[in-house]
Amino acid sequence: AKTWILVKHFDGFPKDSDFELKVEELPEPKDGEVLLEAVFLSVDPYMRPFSRVRMKEGDVMIGTQVAKVLQSKNPAFPVGSHVIGRGGWRTHTVSDGADLTPIMPDWPQDLSLSLALGTIGMPGLTALFGIEEVLGLQKGETLLVNAAAGAVGTVVGQIAKIKGCKVVGSAGSDAKVAYLKELGFDEAFNYKTVGSLDEALKKASPEGYDCFFENVGGPFWTAATQQMKNFGRIAVCGGIATYNDTTPKTCPYPHLTMIFKQLKVEGFMQSRWEHKHPESLKRLMGWVKEGKLKYREHVTKGFDNMPAAFMGLLQGENIGKAVIAM
Ligand code: NDP
Repeated sequence: AKTWILVKHFDGFPKDSDFELKVEELPEPKDGEVLLEAVFLSVDPYMRPFSRVRMKEGDVMIGTQVAKVLQSKNPAFPVGSHVIGRGGWRTHTVSDGADLTPIMPDWPQDLSLSLALGTIGMPGLTALFGIEEVLGLQKGETLLVNAAAGAVGTVVGQIAKIKGCKVVGSAGSDAKVAYLKELGFDEAFNYKTVGSLDEALKKASPEGYDCFFENVGGPFWTAATQQMKNFGRIAVCGGIATYNDTTPKTCPYPHLTMIFKQLKVEGFMQSRWEHKHPESLKRLMGWVKEGKLKYREHVTKGFDNMPAAFMGLLQGENIGKAVIAM
């Protein structure tokens, strides 16, 4: 098996020298175990902050993958079937099955299994739970989402449209903004070239925002908070603009805005609703089949390119979900 090791904790933006490709001999699977081969691997922003709290130097990089069962001594996972595995950045894995989830039954032939890492996987669930469980988004409301052209953001905007809302998205390139319009976002802007964020947010929705799905943090957070309507709700999903900070930066923290507007702010992790995963994945799949939930993927070919794909994601190279195809 090939594995990618975190040899040195990231200090600021990740570097090539923080990773090392290692080859490892795997044991034969014992009773109850399976041998897996990665088919698609995921790179996600959470790997940057989680590397500090969940990993030691020398560990295999954390992550999920779609894998094929090559050998099986576990009847729950027959040879030739596909699973979601949580073994990290590795080409082959011997697993006892505890960290494996079978791919949803009846996965359509014409849909790539890589979607199980994106729109019909963890990022899609994050979007759905953020909207329904945290924000309680209602028909006719106006929703703002940033990092809108990414894995989570594209699903957030489209579910909000399905629910009959006005949707405003921000993203870091004109191509991304064009894509958001294609997806049916009512308004979209490039936060890198727009000049004043305050003005852009006001122009996109002069009456303000009922809900804000926050993926970014930093100055965007401050600006967006000012544009909320009274009693607005904010789902704090991510803060990617801050993940590579070496010292925590203070951005003006809008206490008075939050008090005067009486905002409700809630951080969340999609894992809180694990009991709802199967039914929620079915709903996401249903919308994809109906053509209501469109997707794009940013596919990097080859396991050896995983660190580059991860660093590219943190720099905004991707439109839609970033995945590695073997
Ligand atoms: P994306 O596919 O959106 O990729 C990350 C995107 O973030 C990049 O494409 C880039 O787009 C944007 N970005 C990168 N750096 C910055 C920056 N400094 N300022 C603003 N935008 C930046 O990733 P995901 O959809 O997987 O994740 C989106 C967010 O959701 C992340 O913050 C992630 O941590 C969070 N998340 C939280 C979960 C939870 O359970 N709470 C679960 C999954 C994800 P651009 O070109 O627009 O800058």
